[in-house]
Amino acid sequence: MSLLDLFRKPDPGLVAAGVPRSPKWAKVRAAHLKAHPACEACGQRDALEVHHVQPFHLQPDLELDPANLMTLCGDPCHIVHGHLMAWARYSPTARTDVRTYRANLEAARIAAKGA
Ligand SMILES: [Zn+2]
Ligand SMILES: [Zn+2]
Repeated sequence: MSLLDLFRKPDPGLVAAGVPRSPKWAKVRAAHLKAHPACEACGQRDALEVHHVQPFHLQPDLELDPANLMTLCGDPCHIVHGHLMAWARYSPTARTDVRTYRANLEAARIAAKGA
């Protein structure tokens, strides 16, 4: 499948590269990271990236919508939870998946401390 095919037949499981960013993105991204300064999955505060739950090439109107953004660390949570191990995919359930993952991680940390 060529990249053009991705644009012609947008598969909800696929993300295409090369869609231009809004000139406002840098500002919106910085504001999001200030408000959400930790990975929403693992809690780390380094190498953070801002993920679009609905990919902006499929939903251009949601590129700058704070409700569509998640803070995820670059390694490994963005690719794992946001993109299911491949940048060409995205997880439509990333937000709820991450909430469950975070709760399990916290429970495991508490259990490890108590052991
Ligand atoms: Zn993380
Ligand atoms: Zn992403």
